[in-house]
Amino acid sequence: MRYISTRGDKTERRFCEILLEGLAPDGGLYLPVSYPQVDDATLTKWRGLSYADLAFEILSLYIDDIPAEDLRALLRRTYTQEVFGTPEITPLKPLEPGLALEALSNGPTLAFKDMAMQLLGGLFEYELKRRGETLNILGATSGDTGSAAEYAMRGKAGVNVFMLSPHGRMSPFQQAQMFSLQDANIHNIAVTGVFDDCQDIVKAVSNDLDFKRRHKIGTVNSINWARLLAQVVYYFAGYLQATKTNEEKVSFTVPSGNFGNVCAGHVARMMGLPIDKLVVATNENDVLDEFFRSGAYRVRGAADTYETSSPSMDISKASNFERFVFDLLGRDGARVKALFGGTEFKLSDEEFARIQRFGFQSGSSTHADRLATIRSCRENYGQLIDTHTADGLKVAQQRRDPAVTMIVLETALPAKFAATIVEALGIEPPRPAGLENIEALPKRVTVLPVDVQAVKTFIETHV
Ligand SMILES: *Cc1c(COP(=O)(O)O)cnc(C)c1O
Repeated sequence: MRYISTRGDKTERRFCEILLEGLAPDGGLYLPVSYPQVDDATLTKWRGLSYADLAFEILSLYIDDIPAEDLRALLRRTYTQEVFGTPEITPLKPLEPGLALEALSNGPTLAFKDMAMQLLGGLFEYELKRRGETLNILGATSGDTGSAAEYAMRGKAGVNVFMLSPHGRMSPFQQAQMFSLQDANIHNIAVTGVFDDCQDIVKAVSNDLDFKRRHKIGTVNSINWARLLAQVVYYFAGYLQATKTNEEKVSFTVPSGNFGNVCAGHVARMMGLPIDKLVVATNENDVLDEFFRSGAYRVRGAADTYETSSPSMDISKASNFERFVFDLLGRDGARVKALFGGTEFKLSDEEFARIQRFGFQSGSSTHADRLATIRSCRENYGQLIDTHTADGLKVAQQRRDPAVTMIVLETALPAKFAATIVEALGIEPPRPAGLENIEALPKRVTVLPVDVQAVKTFIETHV
């Protein structure tokens, strides 16, 4: 399989070439030149495979520059019961007939980002070793991404992680998760500013091309194709658990921010997985809901980006969205380039009408909705869900077709967002075994001012 950019550059690249990269040189995102088709017989053959072997079947359709036995071994090392808690890796949790959660958040950092990031850690280590290179990952985080990256890269040969976070602004649990890591290749930098300051520093360092080259600076952001590809697997795994025959369709509702998770669902559907609807659920930051209702895409400014109780979906710009629009517009790179050149666009009526064919629907949720959904889910189904999953469940209940099974992707465990659970239910959510006293562990973190040079100096002295 070869990969091209969404903005018209037709240069074809291989999987391992784009693995360690972010944007394509023309500013677009990478997508496969075509989607491999999974026919009925193949899907039937995949019923009963372990998660790791299912992942191998799917990924080997997209990766032809890693020997099959190496890829299979890497996947079997990654998706284990030991790391993800159950033999199914992403088990379905039935709520009522025709409605289930798919648990994606039983990895080391209790959010679905582990599903892709754990694999990325293995792939990076594999490819860097093969090239005889090293990589210094620089990132900014307000919570989930940074910890998932650190737990994926800890102890990996050839990789260092420098993760900036806003000093004192993450929840005590999130801080403890990241700062308690004692691995020599993981560097936590708490910047005495806000998340935007952290992101600006990362941009400034990355824009210093000389520094970037000398110190082999890379990223693990959400536009990475390998991350998206890893996420395609659990749509298949969810479908295969929910159905007995390939005649049945299912729908998925996906709590969304950067459109990475649901874009993987789009890829699965394009491959021929019998998905009826893909329902995009947002919180008050409803850029995506607005698009699917109106065809207008409007990137929000910082002042119009709200801090909500589902903070991992507080985005102003959906960084993976361009991939879907590329397919929607018949893979017209010039048109995509024109649309994404600015901060807003509106589709023509004819273009907007095509959304139907791709199965997308949407809805949004508010803080009050989250509280009500967390309560009703506990009362009606005896299940405790986190705030992001609650956004999904609320929208799923609105959009559900009684004739089609709806799977809501559970994107985090409630323990991660305890304050809102207490607000909704008056009880502390339980923590997975081993994390009860994580706040008491010794912390490894360096506090730095909002100063690009200070961060550069720190990197120079720690690589
Ligand atoms: C990252 C995240 C999301 C949003 O996923 P996208 O791929 O950015 O759409 C939703 N819920 C949780 C808990 C997350 O960490």
